[in-house]
Amino acid sequence: MMDILTDITARRAALTPERPAFHIVETGEIISFARLEDRSARAATVLAERGVGEGDRVAILCRNRVEFFEALFACAKLGAILAPLNWRMPARELAELLADCAPTCLLVGSEDRQKAAAAAQSLALIFVDLENEWPAARDAAPPHPGRPAWPGDQPWYLIYTSGTTGRPKGVIQTYRMALVNYVNISQAIDLRDGEATVNFLPLFHTAGINLHTLPVLMAGGLNHLLPGFDAGTVLRLIDDGQLDVMLCVPAVYRELALHPDFATADLTRLRHWACGGAPMPDVLIETFAARGAVVCNGFGMTETGPTAFLMDREHALERIGSVGKPQLLIEARIATPDGEALASGGTGEVQFFGPGLTPGYWQRDDETAKLFTADGWLKSGDLGRFDADGYCYIAGRIKEMYISGGENVYPAEVENVLDEHPAVQESAVTGIADDKWGEVGCAHLILRDGQAVTDMALRDWCRERLAGYKVPRHFRRTNDFPRTAAGKVQKHLLPLPETVE
Ligand code: ATP
Repeated sequence: MMDILTDITARRAALTPERPAFHIVETGEIISFARLEDRSARAATVLAERGVGEGDRVAILCRNRVEFFEALFACAKLGAILAPLNWRMPARELAELLADCAPTCLLVGSEDRQKAAAAAQSLALIFVDLENEWPAARDAAPPHPGRPAWPGDQPWYLIYTSGTTGRPKGVIQTYRMALVNYVNISQAIDLRDGEATVNFLPLFHTAGINLHTLPVLMAGGLNHLLPGFDAGTVLRLIDDGQLDVMLCVPAVYRELALHPDFATADLTRLRHWACGGAPMPDVLIETFAARGAVVCNGFGMTETGPTAFLMDREHALERIGSVGKPQLLIEARIATPDGEALASGGTGEVQFFGPGLTPGYWQRDDETAKLFTADGWLKSGDLGRFDADGYCYIAGRIKEMYISGGENVYPAEVENVLDEHPAVQESAVTGIADDKWGEVGCAHLILRDGQAVTDMALRDWCRERLAGYKVPRHFRRTNDFPRTAAGKVQKHLLPLPETVE
């Protein structure tokens, strides 16, 4: 099943040629599916003329723009592999990624031209400028005939991990993964023909490509395209009734809730809200629910394509805190890291099996071997448990769990309690060494504007809601956290509180 796929963009364009695929919000330009297919086929010729063939890598460094998707589909037509690069990285780190994927050419947006030149200094690389060169070359090139069929397990693009756990690894993404993700998302949110969403999450992250854009394109729907996230614009699109589905990360929900227009925007105009990629505080789901928006929490990883769990709308508020059930084309189990399944209800590592998992990391057989158990299940590195009805609750990353006085503490549980405190805007809890208890919790806090709260009051708040060993020993206030481009807190970069330095 799904071993050989059709040219998905060509098929989509044949089905709904005149429908809008992209709306460039900044300029108002509309690009139909026929136009997108034509541009992608011509772009394939541009790449082929620059020496790109089957299996070759094409690196791309740019903000959110339609040319990214033209390049993605052009690569599919050639069997080439797109390698999106993280524009937040300095030249030195980009040079490492370029050395890793060894691309034939590098496509660059204007904002990142200088950095790209510095990163590629010692490499023999063909540069293509996405503003000045690409559009003219693309329009002048004849459409490439493409390949009639795409092998489902062939690499299509690479998503580099952000490097929080060592040297960045290129997670291989295949055609089959994209299709399985489409099935998983569309059945979970009942994605309908022609529905609209908005794209602004970074395109070097799985969420920017797979959470809101490819599934909607495959369904013949419309993507409003923003160069980056802007809460005011997104709220305006929602209030205008231009968006049907929102698939996003908690950091975006947080920003939307903090925006002054949140109080007046009509959130009920958007049909389905979904979230994943990081722990979603219960209080944020409640904030949206109070405005008539039921946010369905989910769980995904770059390695799982990404959608693995997604909560159904009917139970989203009743089972707040759960990420739902495994989706149609994925299985999940709770096991020991060695792959021994745990008795039902036990907390252990969440592991996955199914047709939509990555085959592994780009040229990193050692890391790929570590990703799977001996019986072929993908190890998430996250802890979780299932309740009696099959709903999963994520406890947090194995690496972030700490042991205080012999008891396991899952930071996400503590953060959830702190986030409910009226003075707290956001919290991040880490375990730090302690002479007496082995480890104790340190709560890093961003307070709401104009709010103050004592350590004692925070401790009392936690004590009323958590077992004593879970109550953080240290509290540190800060204005912001170090974050990945998708807004995840980089806990390993948080400093120690002054009291223990
Ligand atoms: P890196 O790029 O360094 O690999 P990452 O580990 O965050 O970063 P991603 O694939 O972007 O990689 O994210 C997957 C991880 O995000 C999961 O392993 C899990 O830790 C976390 N995650 C995703 N969804 C949720 C959720 N609903 N609740 C808690 N954690 C989540």
